[in-house]
Amino acid sequence: MTTRIIPVDPFDLVIFGATGDLAARKLLPALFHRDRDGQIPDRARIVGCARSDLDDEGFRDLARAALEEHVDAEYRTGDALDRFLARLHYISIDVFGDKGWSPLRALLSEPEEARIRVFYLSVGPSLFGPIADALKTHGLADEARLVVEKPIGHDGDSAKELNDRIGAVFDESRVYRIDHYLGKETVQNLIALRFANALFEPLWNAKHIESVRITVAETLGVEDRASYYDKAGAMRDMVQNHLLQLLCLTAMEPPHHFEADALRDEKLKVLRALRPLSGTEALKASVRGQYAGYPEEAENPASTTETYVALKAEIGTWRWAGTPFYLRTGKKLRSRLSEIVVLFRQTPHQIFDDLATPVAPNSLVIRLQPDEAITLSITTKDPGPGGFRMRETPLDMSFTGKDEEGFRMPDAYERLVMDVVRGNQTLFMRRDEVAAAWAWIDPIMDAWREGGGKPEEYDRGSEGPMSAMELMIRDGRRWRSLAP
Ligand code: NAD
Repeated sequence: MTTRIIPVDPFDLVIFGATGDLAARKLLPALFHRDRDGQIPDRARIVGCARSDLDDEGFRDLARAALEEHVDAEYRTGDALDRFLARLHYISIDVFGDKGWSPLRALLSEPEEARIRVFYLSVGPSLFGPIADALKTHGLADEARLVVEKPIGHDGDSAKELNDRIGAVFDESRVYRIDHYLGKETVQNLIALRFANALFEPLWNAKHIESVRITVAETLGVEDRASYYDKAGAMRDMVQNHLLQLLCLTAMEPPHHFEADALRDEKLKVLRALRPLSGTEALKASVRGQYAGYPEEAENPASTTETYVALKAEIGTWRWAGTPFYLRTGKKLRSRLSEIVVLFRQTPHQIFDDLATPVAPNSLVIRLQPDEAITLSITTKDPGPGGFRMRETPLDMSFTGKDEEGFRMPDAYERLVMDVVRGNQTLFMRRDEVAAAWAWIDPIMDAWREGGGKPEEYDRGSEGPMSAMELMIRDGRRWRSLAP
């Protein structure tokens, strides 16, 4: 398969937090691959900023080590690595001090031609406001674009405060809120599948879909993120952003055009149509769990932070009334699995009387992890003359090209960072979406707090807490097993 690479315009990408984990694991490898594939023009520069006292060479050494660790050797051949490293510059800045800003301004104003300027904030959210202010004070923000990572606040009020502060320097058309799930090929394929095919749309409603189940299961625990995680928990870390974004793309109406605001308007409508959950209703429709041994890992014996959430969400629209959306996410579960399962209803009448097992309903499974794939399961006849037996046949609708020679599945960040340079906000969250997501989440978390109690403990390596199973059983349903 040949992929058409359209080079972007020359840019300066400044990464705040360039010595951190995200830069090493995701950003630098993503940029390296885009460069290697010829998408980054010769004059483009990448400027690392962080507190460490490094020069350009020191940062290049650090980047080289990161790329050697996170990019397969087969891609680091020839002069690709050296050519990429030559693009890197470094300026030591402590966001709260004065040092470094003038050299940064001098570096950025060197080129005579106009170029796109991007500031990528790969730092904790408490630095977003101070960096935005400093960029303004030092005359660097005009025309520039700003990329921010999750989490955007820890509730609706703090998100508003953060967005106000950023918005005072960067107008909304220049702010890119990353949710890297939206950069995944399969997630974009969900959009293609729904809106570039006539087949699914007539069936895509409560009349034909019995439920939608969205799972993001991890085998890892909190690892070295405990101090952040213990204040956040699964609801803020995963549900408020990733799971709700997946829900939006599954449930939204067709946008009139594949364009940033048209798409985000439709996602916003879904978030606003979520049936509010609060008080006892919220407690009934939600489950929070905590894996055994978590409080010790978090060094907080009294921790009530949830490492698992299951929720039953309902969307109050003509299209979806009567089709629940079940969400679950957790750490230290049985396997690493992220998927959206769209389960269709049974046939209205069963003509096959003598089947040992009833005909299974169709399902469309959009899998994001561990590997990306889309499968439609349909029922077919078991071949052979002996009777009329049925079997479930998975139709593999994968599009990854992974079997095609030379094709490498791009990481989500590759697409997203290039989208920022291209000025395309389609796959980034708009401010009002963030607010609407918090408006639905906040009352559920209030109910948890007011209801007291602790999250239910579940075994490491299990399917999650028992109550999450019961949430489904009450509705006559079951989760798909997390077995790999
Ligand atoms: P990290 O702690 O590994 O790195 C933080 C970086 O910020 C370092 O380069 C550090 O030098 C710099 N920094 C800290 N204080 C500074 C200051 N006062 N002035 C200048 N630089 C300063 O963090 P990370 O894991 O790379 O995460 C960065 C951001 O990305 C966070 O907002 C995080 O929530 C988000 N995020 C990270 C991941 C991930 O996989 N690591 C995933 C999703 C979102």
